[in-house]
Amino acid sequence: MTTGESALVDFQLLGAPTLSRTGVGRDDLLRDNAARLAELWPNARLLLLDSHGRTPMVSDGDALWLDYRPTGPLGPAPPESAVLLGEHEGVCYWAARAEPDGPVQQVYGWDATVPSDSGPVWQDLRLAGDVLSDVDAGLLTTAVAVLSWHNDAKFCARCGSPTKLSRAGWASTCEGCGREEYPRTDPAVICLVHDGADQVLLARQPVWPPDRHSVLAGFVEGGESLEACVSREVYEEVGLEVRSVRYLGSQPWPFPRSLMVGFTAIADPSVDLVPAAGEIEAARWVHRDELRAVLAAGGTGPGLILPGITSIARGMLQSWAAG
Ligand SMILES: [Zn+2]
Repeated sequence: MTTGESALVDFQLLGAPTLSRTGVGRDDLLRDNAARLAELWPNARLLLLDSHGRTPMVSDGDALWLDYRPTGPLGPAPPESAVLLGEHEGVCYWAARAEPDGPVQQVYGWDATVPSDSGPVWQDLRLAGDVLSDVDAGLLTTAVAVLSWHNDAKFCARCGSPTKLSRAGWASTCEGCGREEYPRTDPAVICLVHDGADQVLLARQPVWPPDRHSVLAGFVEGGESLEACVSREVYEEVGLEVRSVRYLGSQPWPFPRSLMVGFTAIADPSVDLVPAAGEIEAARWVHRDELRAVLAAGGTGPGLILPGITSIARGMLQSWAAG
């Protein structure tokens, strides 16, 4: 890297990624304290989550709040199927599965808007996460992640026997062989590739809506480092070799169980782009001025629609564009 390049590489995320925000302590010791949990249960707050990952939220048109419910309907003590999210200002927060008891957000996709309603509407973290408070965003992200793991951890991966949840929803034990498992997360790298000057590389997958573009991403393979994964994925997806790979930040992406690990790297824009057949439909270099204009327009411009505002990709692009 040249001295001039070094200065240009050195951008940071402008703030914590949307779903990395948190305001609640994860009290690991409390998970094993059944007596204390039973004592706190009657006054705890309950986050309900349906099978589509939606939870009731209330809105005043600008902001959204999670509509926590009392724990009474679930019985006098926490059921095995619930998960302890944490404790905040003396109140325990739990999450449990439920079916909607009111209006639901019907629109799924990339650009659904958050409806304004005086009563609770069951809404999805991916679409509404950015307008929640730090406390609500952290609790809902954790609830989506751990309850999704509950769905996938009903049987032992070693012997196939049923499992039993324990530790307030944070562990499962096989009833056959005793194997223990904990909430699983799959790391994926996501990399903002730029040219060391004013161009950023964006690409689109064939399954995305027209004009939608984002930075490159891919899952880390067994036995692979994050940095090696960045180099491999960029080369596989667009045929470019990268240098100056540097970590930016991370955010959970519990759809169903990813951890997005953000990087930036530099590549040579004079090298021909070779989109991977079937995986990348198109890739192109975008000038910082065009990106700034699209961001200023809310993420949608002529021929270019940016990733959703809840994604770390959007935060990475905003941070680079501001440089
Ligand atoms: Zn087993």
